[in-house]
Amino acid sequence: METRISIQETPESGRDARVHDQWMREAVELGHRGMAENGGGPFGAVVVTGGKIVGRGWNQVTSLLDPTAHAEVMAIRDACRALQRFELRGCELYTSCEPCPMCLAAAYWARVERLFYGCTRGDAAGAGFDDEFIYQQIPLEPAARSLPMTPICRESALRLFDEWKNNPDKTPY
Ligand SMILES: [Zn+2]
Repeated sequence: METRISIQETPESGRDARVHDQWMREAVELGHRGMAENGGGPFGAVVVTGGKIVGRGWNQVTSLLDPTAHAEVMAIRDACRALQRFELRGCELYTSCEPCPMCLAAAYWARVERLFYGCTRGDAAGAGFDDEFIYQQIPLEPAARSLPMTPICRESALRLFDEWKNNPDKTPY
């Protein structure tokens, strides 16, 4: 049986591949540096737009005492500060590892255009960073999750939305 794989390797796509490699190397290097400085886990990320890095992040969970200080979140925050915007349309996120659900959601909220990752979730699990259980929790009904979720005081909380809808000076996003 003949297996034919056709790859259209144009000079342009070859150049793109080298550029992607360059940004990914930078993300991995940030992970190395962060670890060397005892910042946190072995993860790094960069945000790129217009052919240059506009945001850098590395895991700082244990040094900042912040469970949300993942590399991707830190890179997104850094890029938004640098660009003075609250979203990253037209930007690409390079991360040394497939993002956890929090960072994936952050990438969606930031409206990044594309995401490139080095290691897989499985690789991370092998190193003791298993976020697979969170992926499994998300599709469950709130009451079935291991984190008990109980809706309360909906009426008073709903007033926030009324206020938002009626506020002519809001900044929509
Ligand atoms: Zn994460």
